[in-house]
Amino acid sequence: MTPLYKVGVDIGGTKTDAVAIDEQGAIAGQVRVRSGIGPVALVSSTVQALEELADRVGVSLIDFTSIGIGIPGTVVDGRVSHAVNLAIDGLDLGAELDARLGRSVSIDNDVNAAALGAFHLLETDSSHSMAFLNLGTGLAAGLVLGGKLWRGARGAAGEIGHVPIDPNGIECPCGQRGCLETVASGSGVARMWPTGSDQPTTDLFAAAASGDRVAIEVRSQLVENVASAVRLLVLTIDVDSVVLGGGVSTLDDLLEDVRATLARWETSSAFLASIGLSGRVHGLPAGFPAAAVGAAMVSIEENK
Ligand SMILES: [Zn+2]
Repeated sequence: MTPLYKVGVDIGGTKTDAVAIDEQGAIAGQVRVRSGIGPVALVSSTVQALEELADRVGVSLIDFTSIGIGIPGTVVDGRVSHAVNLAIDGLDLGAELDARLGRSVSIDNDVNAAALGAFHLLETDSSHSMAFLNLGTGLAAGLVLGGKLWRGARGAAGEIGHVPIDPNGIECPCGQRGCLETVASGSGVARMWPTGSDQPTTDLFAAAASGDRVAIEVRSQLVENVASAVRLLVLTIDVDSVVLGGGVSTLDDLLEDVRATLARWETSSAFLASIGLSGRVHGLPAGFPAAAVGAAMVSIEENK
């Protein structure tokens, strides 16, 4: 009998990860290919990842139970727009892949997919709620309420990076001023600690660790602003947990420092202490492919 696998694909700015999930929910196979840049190359690299994965687990592509895809940008009915790093301004990825593969696929935003993947890994109680706070070049959260993604009326749920927190702050590409993303993200660090490096946050943390006073100050502002984002999520939707993910979240001691900041706020606010703010923030195990695993879950959700 052909084994049954649900497949999830995480298309990132440089690499594409594909995983096959078996009937017990475990990762049975995993492949990584370079993401194609631009519509034609992107469709090809996605097909390549799926073909290599099918080879890896020894089934035919058509025998996969479901295929779900997570991709940066805005996703509406399989159509992807504003995926800047992939040079995609408008691509009907769902229809393109359906035609190339001869079967249907489901597509969602990568942060939503990662939120579902984190929920699948970390939450044992499906009635619980979780916010997945993605700390990458930008800042956004994916919300899983009672085991299901909450996208909101127009897909803007969790876009907390564009909540303005400083009327005197810098102008944000979204057209507002002083957005949280401008001070709590990789792009924010690149602005506050301008080195020209393509790894601004890694460089900042290294400089802070070696005692650079300006770097220490910028790092502590970043931690404070990420803690503010966690507090915002807890106070607006009262989620059971906030999980930090994305490239910036993997840097040394960030999670511990955010938790320590929340704990410090609790010492001066009986209200924050009473709701157990600092106990709600968690991390992901290093290397766990949350967005790929979650993309497989997205396809299951849509087929329900
Ligand atoms: Zn903004």
